[in-house]
Amino acid sequence: MYIYINSILKNPSLCDGTGYRTVLFLQGCDLHCKGCQNKSAWDIAKGVKWDVSKLADEIKKRCANKELTISGGEPLMQADAVYALITRLKDFDICLYTGHDKSEVPKKLLDKIRYLKYGPFIESMKTTTMPFIGSSNQVYEEINHETSK
Ligand code: SF4
Repeated sequence: MYIYINSILKNPSLCDGTGYRTVLFLQGCDLHCKGCQNKSAWDIAKGVKWDVSKLADEIKKRCANKELTISGGEPLMQADAVYALITRLKDFDICLYTGHDKSEVPKKLLDKIRYLKYGPFIESMKTTTMPFIGSSNQVYEEINHETSK
């Protein structure tokens, strides 16, 4: 199975979920929020194609503390590939960022992740002070305490 990625953040981040997290940006977004800062991630055809198993191995090499955030783009465009990736990262602490509502996240993903950020970016509600979200309508929450770590 293949997955299309935009990039893996060079250094871990303190701003993309709880902890010190490696961030995987997936390619492709179907939401096209007004004011999006990441338009280069909209077209999935412009992504870098990875075999999911090889990407899992690469993440294991780069992410020593096993704290990974999967962002975008819009990860749910590749939900099956995201699931395949997560199942190969069994003892990882996973945070998923989506612009969709929580009700649209497949249960098989919800069961495997620890943190979820959900909701579209709304430019008029933009915030730079609330942790881990870009606009105040968005929700960041711990949905499973200590999933697998
Ligand atoms: S979901 Fe994220 S990447 Fe997609 S348009 Fe909205 S802000 Fe941009």
